[in-house]
Amino acid sequence: MAIDPQFTENREQVDSHQGHDVWGPVEEPEKLGIHGTHVAVDFDICLGDGACVEDCPVDVFEWVDTPDHPESELKADPANESQCIDCMLCVDVCPVDAIDVDAGRT
Ligand code: SF4
Repeated sequence: MAIDPQFTENREQVDSHQGHDVWGPVEEPEKLGIHGTHVAVDFDICLGDGACVEDCPVDVFEWVDTPDHPESELKADPANESQCIDCMLCVDVCPVDAIDVDAGRT
């Protein structure tokens, strides 16, 4: 299952983390929601593959520890989403389609 590109309509913003929004539901440690808005990562899909962290030309992503999450204990957090240049590389390389980038969404 890929990230829902309509998440801003289908989910509620429940928190913020490192300056970006978190879209619920969040029930730690098993459900972590979607982090970010312009650059959105569904933490409940992310496998911690790391391709986005390695390939992003402007270092938008930072690793965060997510102990006891069923998919992976590391997530790629869009900590610097305001730096995004909309190249779409992260969307293309993510093996599980956990990332959605929308230049019109802030
Ligand atoms: S779209 Fe490009 S610049 Fe933006 S987060 Fe993804 S890889 Fe980085």
